Amino acid sequence: MHNKTLIELSRALHQRECSSVELTRYFLERIKTHDTQLNSFITQTPELALAQAQAADERLNNGTAQPLTGIPIAHKDIFCTQGVKTSCGSKMLDNFIAPYNATVVEKCQAAGMVMLGKTNMDEFAMGSSNETSFYGPVKNPWDTQTVPGGSSGGGAAAVAARLTPIATGTDTGGSIRQPASLCGITGFKPTYGRVSRYGMIAFASSLDQGGPLGRSAEDVALLLNVITGFDERDSTSLEHPQEDYTAHLNDSIEGLKIGLPKEYFSEGIDAGVGNALETAIKEFEQAGATLHDIHLPHSHLAIPVYYIIAPAECSSNLSRYDGVRFGHRCEQPQDLMDLYKRSRGEGFGPEVKRRIMIGTYALSAGYYDAYYLKAQQIRRLISKDFTQAFEQVDVILGPTSPTTAFKIGEKIDDPVTMYLSDINTISVNLAGLPALSIPAGFAEQRPVGLQLIGNYLKEAQLLNIAHQYQQRTDWHQQQPPQFQ
Ligand code: GLN
Repeated sequence: MHNKTLIELSRALHQRECSSVELTRYFLERIKTHDTQLNSFITQTPELALAQAQAADERLNNGTAQPLTGIPIAHKDIFCTQGVKTSCGSKMLDNFIAPYNATVVEKCQAAGMVMLGKTNMDEFAMGSSNETSFYGPVKNPWDTQTVPGGSSGGGAAAVAARLTPIATGTDTGGSIRQPASLCGITGFKPTYGRVSRYGMIAFASSLDQGGPLGRSAEDVALLLNVITGFDERDSTSLEHPQEDYTAHLNDSIEGLKIGLPKEYFSEGIDAGVGNALETAIKEFEQAGATLHDIHLPHSHLAIPVYYIIAPAECSSNLSRYDGVRFGHRCEQPQDLMDLYKRSRGEGFGPEVKRRIMIGTYALSAGYYDAYYLKAQQIRRLISKDFTQAFEQVDVILGPTSPTTAFKIGEKIDDPVTMYLSDINTISVNLAGLPALSIPAGFAEQRPVGLQLIGNYLKEAQLLNIAHQYQQRTDWHQQQPPQFQ
């Protein structure tokens, strides 16, 4: 049951071979059995799930069901879920019960999907290893001594271990793609503005974007069909017609021009990752694609630019957690200043504090021009690199992450090394482009991810390319031995 694709599950439900209640019970049971080892969920919602499953069964019986009606899903704990704790991985929101649903959650509900619970994540989505979560680290199902990546590590681990058929994540600098890569699954970050940010707790608003974590391009396409679309409650939402992302999965990729940026294959990339990529590239050639060397000359500036812009936006977004309206409040404050200081001091973890301090500094009078403005100017150059590349090629290919999963604890005390985990993913957010990570082999039994970056709104094309690769390979079907 847990190895079925979304299409297979949908068919089984629609043909009434199994009910949504049965399917939901099955996955709840798997979570119960396995999640003590993984810690991929912060909150499980079995009662709500069974109620939603029952409603889904009614729809399946009365002919009002949609393709994903009755299928279980796990939401990253950054999406507000009405009446359910929404912690964002932080002590600050440990007591926060969201009063409304995020648009993404609402859309999944309207489609009849069943929420199993809320997945673990780095605190306020700041991290690349899931170790900054107030709820403890998530373990990678391929090797529980290693990290699952972050910040959507809970969702990625849960999908990889087959504790849920599909999950949502968010990606500000790589947080869908990098954990997908490290856990051997498929993760998609859409074009900025394609998925509503309403009710998705803000980290860096000009970079944040929600998207699916699934086992295959096809599964991801099916969830994208549900969660994309214009939302007037998000001022940065794109007005773009609804698309069926499954419509072009089977198109031929004969003649596709793939760009290989020199900068993504240079030093810093693990030999095992490089070898897996080489094999994958040959596969694309055999499918009829042509390869082209390209340059993204400002790539090396992506991390420094991101670590000005993201902290600057986070320092502003996180100023709302003041102990007054919601979230953690310190005991017996002496006065208002004491209330602010101690509530924030106690509620936030070290990585979040580090970012708030950097961001506050970068935005302060006298420094704004030197840091924030400069960073925005370089951000523009990074976007231009991509625009120029897409004049020559259809899609850009490279490793999602320069390494495979690393040991828990290995990088947590060295923020700069940790930040380098996202060296190939961050520039995509700075430019607002769509990109996905697909499994492309193993290096020392750890999954390797391949990233495909597309031009604006080329979601369908990316999914087509990924699906064609997955038709020719079976990396996406591999399952962690401990979680069969
Ligand atoms: N790892 C990056 C960071 O720590 C990206 C996180 C994300 O995409 N949310 O900011």
